[in-house]
Amino acid sequence: MSKKIIVIGGGASGMIAAIAAKRKGALVTILERNPRVGKKILATGNGRCNYTNMDIDIKNYHGENPEFARYILSQFGADKTIDFFEKLGITPTVEEGGKVFPMSLQSSSVLDVLRMELEELKVETICDFYVKSVKKIENGFIVRSEKGTSLRTDKIILATGGKSMPSSGSDGNGYELSRSLGHKITNIFPGLVQLKTEERLLKEADGVKIIGNIKLANHGCILREERGDILFTNYGISGPPVLQISREALELINMGQNPVVIISIINDRTKEELREYLKKRFSYKPKRTMEESLIGLINKRLIGIMLKKTEIDRRKSAGNITKMELEKIVNILMNWEMKIIGSKSFPSCQITAGGVSTDEINSKTLESKIIKGLYFSGELIDIDGDCGGFNLQWAWASGYIAGENAALD
Ligand SMILES: Cc1cc2nc3c(=O)[nH]c(=O)nc-3n(C[C@H](O)[C@H](O)[C@H](O)COP(=O)(O)OP(=O)(O)OC[C@H]3O[C@@H](n4cnc5c(N)ncnc54)[C@H](O)[C@@H]3O)c2cc1C
Repeated sequence: MSKKIIVIGGGASGMIAAIAAKRKGALVTILERNPRVGKKILATGNGRCNYTNMDIDIKNYHGENPEFARYILSQFGADKTIDFFEKLGITPTVEEGGKVFPMSLQSSSVLDVLRMELEELKVETICDFYVKSVKKIENGFIVRSEKGTSLRTDKIILATGGKSMPSSGSDGNGYELSRSLGHKITNIFPGLVQLKTEERLLKEADGVKIIGNIKLANHGCILREERGDILFTNYGISGPPVLQISREALELINMGQNPVVIISIINDRTKEELREYLKKRFSYKPKRTMEESLIGLINKRLIGIMLKKTEIDRRKSAGNITKMELEKIVNILMNWEMKIIGSKSFPSCQITAGGVSTDEINSKTLESKIIKGLYFSGELIDIDGDCGGFNLQWAWASGYIAGENAALD
């Protein structure tokens, strides 16, 4: 007789787990709390779904034990993901940084092909089924919904996601289910998230976007450097390079450290070159005020802030600028340091750092080491990836492997 498997959570990981298990001959049911499966997929990659990356490497993954992800990713890497989706109809297109998107550039295509495959395989999908408890019984489990409906199953795959974007359905309740089954949850915090800075002046630059470099530093040590669109906001900073350094920054804050970011607004020349360039620039129109003199070099809304920060009178004429003042301008344009004081919360983050401890999960099969027949996949596990397709890759890989293994006897 075929094994009966219930997948709790119809997100990226749960859907691929169900497909993998059904292809291996299991009787599979997905239970999803929302009226439809895959809500979060629609939001991924700014609506374009960056569904994997050509350069999947263990160094792009984090958690208490990132090595846990190695075997799973070696069994189901980017090649397998691309092949899996190509066979379902998704033609890949690769963008800068190895990011892979569907050629349609629509995340809805990824969800559509998954839903079509679930239908073609006749995977039972029950929506509006909010699992409130899972009970281990002899040779199986009893799953109970919020409305009191009970279902019996031989095996369970927990694919409830983490806590990021709770409006998509993943509000952290999966941690409670896991705990109730005896599993340990590591420290949870937002990953890939906007950072709050101590810099109060930034309020005036709310909405200004630059293409720049950002470095994360602690005790004078540069820990990571990223480049791209940096957005100044009324609470701090946002944009892809900020999200990329956010996890490390928050980890340091959690450890009681005081990390800073150093933003280079101008980074296409050396300090000496910039100094000489500014001298020349100021000499062309020496009577202009400092405020006027920087127009055309940097965003106008940043000028006042920078002059305030460097304590240079904005009305001072460019021709009268001192050597020290010139140095201050060079420094802030190339190394604007801001203290990080925290981050936006789970509704704004793209991934949850932390989750079900990998100590208690078999790294080859994703079966619980505590309860036989219980499997975990996706963001729920204490593994999170960098921005760039690494998180969905983990969701697909872990879902597929959990599904295949759950279908075995
Ligand atoms: C705005 C945004 C953009 C992103 N963009 C990208 C990107 O471009 N590339 C990338 O790699 N990653 C991206 N990510 C991360 C990626 O979406 C996640 O890593 C991935 O969706 C995790 O898949 P999952 O199946 O583990 O969890 P989820 O996708 O969160 O799915 C979990 C599902 O379980 C359901 N559920 C939860 N609890 C229960 C319950 N008790 N009973 C029944 N159902 C339940 C939820 O409703 C949900 O449908 C993005 C995330 C966000 C928020």
